[in-house]
Amino acid sequence: EKKELKKFIGKETVTADGVKVELCCNIGKPDDADAVLSKDGEGVGLFRTEFLYMDSSSIPTEEEQFEAYKKTVLKLGDKPLIIRTLDVGGDKDIPYLGLSKEDNPFMGFRAVRYCLHREDVYKPQLRALLRASAFGNIKIMIPLVTCIDEVREVKAMIENIKAELDSENIAYNKDIQVGIMVETPAASLIADLLAEEADFFSIGTNDLTGYTMAVDRGNADVAYLYSAFQPAVLRSIKKIIEDGKDIMVGMCGEAAADPLLIPLLLAFGLDEFSVSATSVLKTRKIISQWTIDEAKEIAEKALTLKTESEVVEYLTSVAK
Ligand code: PEP
Ligand code: MG
Repeated sequence: EKKELKKFIGKETVTADGVKVELCCNIGKPDDADAVLSKDGEGVGLFRTEFLYMDSSSIPTEEEQFEAYKKTVLKLGDKPLIIRTLDVGGDKDIPYLGLSKEDNPFMGFRAVRYCLHREDVYKPQLRALLRASAFGNIKIMIPLVTCIDEVREVKAMIENIKAELDSENIAYNKDIQVGIMVETPAASLIADLLAEEADFFSIGTNDLTGYTMAVDRGNADVAYLYSAFQPAVLRSIKKIIEDGKDIMVGMCGEAAADPLLIPLLLAFGLDEFSVSATSVLKTRKIISQWTIDEAKEIAEKALTLKTESEVVEYLTSVAK
């Protein structure tokens, strides 16, 4: 099988009928960019910056973050690098950030909600990202968006920082893209409105599945409900991609590399798949096996099915 996959090294990611998509990687550290290159990823669809914070005993300074982002983007050359701003809270605790114990951490003070209330934490990160954007194709991504206000507030902060950098004569990419994770049912339901505010979407199926199904993945008693093949989750994914037709829509949750889901994502018109570096060649191969017409036929049928097990059974029966 390894040999079989080697054929896909250095190739574009295209469907059997020649539709090109982007195939990027998820990373957590600057040095992970080496694996992106060696496994032939076309860029980074998700840099989880939490690790920079978890590996430190205090808030990483603007300078430390700048160096980390710059190092990553320099390794990638002109390949895109989507950096997600701090996604703390929920299952990700970082002791020195002063988060208090919550009864429902997944419903609580986390990610963009926390950052917008802690300018002392958020501003150094945004400044570091803007400064690093002078060295390559960096895009900023906001996690756990649930309403338009959050996007506007982050964008306003970014505009203020740009003005600051201008006055300090510090270089940055004036056209830097600002996109969002679509990973809550709220964001999915207003995806048409969010598409007017965001430069791109990336669907976070890990959280989207949990929030849509109201399931805590860590709870074994309800884990059977945690599936991207639940009709509710499939409908949500389809809606997000369709509402985002005028902007780039990617997927960086685990589901992006699921062979059974890939034909549906192609049918819906997903532009970018972001997977672990080790899944790049396999994902490229699977994408190459489908024409859009075949994928659309399968998607149409799959969406008529009423249960998760029927969906999985059907997709398994047509898988190549
Ligand atoms: C997701 O929610 O799908 C995602 C990619 O983000 P994380 O797994 O870091 O929450
Ligand atoms: Mg998430």
